[in-house]
Amino acid sequence: MLNRQRRCAAVIVITMACAFASGCSTASRAEQKRYDASFLELFDTVSHVIGHDTDKEAFTVFAQSVHDELAVYHNFYDIYTTSDAVASLKTINDSAGIAPVEVDQRIIDMLKAGREMYAISGSKTNIALGAVLRVWHKYREEGIDDPLNSRLPPMDELREAAQHVDINDMIIDEQLGTVYIADPLMSLDVGALAKGYATEMAARSIEQSGRDNVMLSIGGNVRAVGAKPDGDHWAVGVQNPDMGASNELLFTLNIDSMSVVTSGAYQRYYTVDGVRYHHIIDPDTLMPAAYYVSVTIVAADSGLADGLSTALFCMPLEDSRALAESMDGVEACWVMPDGSIEMTGGFSAFIKK
Ligand code: AMP
Ligand code: MG
Repeated sequence: MLNRQRRCAAVIVITMACAFASGCSTASRAEQKRYDASFLELFDTVSHVIGHDTDKEAFTVFAQSVHDELAVYHNFYDIYTTSDAVASLKTINDSAGIAPVEVDQRIIDMLKAGREMYAISGSKTNIALGAVLRVWHKYREEGIDDPLNSRLPPMDELREAAQHVDINDMIIDEQLGTVYIADPLMSLDVGALAKGYATEMAARSIEQSGRDNVMLSIGGNVRAVGAKPDGDHWAVGVQNPDMGASNELLFTLNIDSMSVVTSGAYQRYYTVDGVRYHHIIDPDTLMPAAYYVSVTIVAADSGLADGLSTALFCMPLEDSRALAESMDGVEACWVMPDGSIEMTGGFSAFIKK
C-alpha cells in the first residue's frame, strides 16, 4: 500500500457541513459551525477531518495541522517512494541484508505494534510478509492494467517469496534507534495497520491539544475524538460489501471516542478468468483469505482495530470470534460469503436503531 503517487502539495478542501443545532451547552459553542476538510494524497485514499470552529480560517489551521501530522506518518511508512529527507520503510527495505537504518522513533513504535499484532494474531497479520505481498501486487497491477491478460501468481513464485517472511529477521535496536532486516530478500509491508496506527496517533495529538468533538476518517478508517459537539454520537456507516445491493450501508454505528475499521474483499482486487482476487493474503495458504467478504472492528485504538481487522479476516469464524471475544473493548462483525452476518455479543449495542 502506502502509495506510489507523486508527492504533491496538499490540497485541502474545506466545506461547511451545517451550523450546529441548538443544544450546545455554551454560547461560544453555539456560534461554532461544522466543517469537513478533505484531502486526497495521503495513504492512497481520501481523508476527512470533521469538526467545529468559529470560522473557516480557524478550522483550516487545525485541519492543516492534522494533515501535516498524518503526512509525516505517510512518509515514514511509505514502501514505494524514497525521500532524501526522511528514512522510511522503503529505506529499511532497501537496506535489507546490508545495514541497519537509523529511523525516527515513530517508525520503531509502529513496527513494535506490528510485532505485537503478529503475536496476538497467531502470525496471521505479518508485517514481514512484504515479499509475498509484492508478488501479488505485481500480478494485480498487471491484471488491472491489462485485464484480458490478467494472471494469477504461480504458486512456486509465492512459495519462494514465503521463504523470506520471518518477522524475527526484523531487528530493532532501541538503544541505537535502528532497524535492520537480516534476510536480504525480506521486506516490510505495513498496509495492514499503518493507516490505523497513524490515525490513532493523530487522534491522540488532537486529544492532547484539548480539542474535542472531532471525527477523523482516513480512507474509511474512522476514529472519533469525543462525541459530536451537541453531545450526540457520531454516526458511522458500515459499507455493504454487496455493491449491487440497494442498501449502500449495512448499518450505521453510534460511536464516541472510538474507532471503526473494516477490512473488505471488495476494497482492492483484480479479476482472473472471471474470479476476483483481493488484497488480504492468508500467510498460510499464500492466497486471498476466503472466509469473509468483510470484517469490521470497533475498538478504542484505531491501530489495534486496523491490525485486528486484517487478522480476523484471515481466520475461520471459530478462531476469529474467539480472538475478538478474548480482547477487552473489542467488538467485531463478520459478513460471510453468503451475505449472512455474525457479530460479537457487544457489537449490536453500537448499531443505530
Ligand atoms: P487491511 O485493508 O487493513 O486489511 O490491510 C490490507 C493490506 O495489508 C494489504 O493491502 C497489504 O498491504 C497488507 N496485507 C495483506 N495481507 C496481509 C497479512 N496477512 N499480514 C499483513 N499484511 C497484510
Ligand atoms: Mg487492517
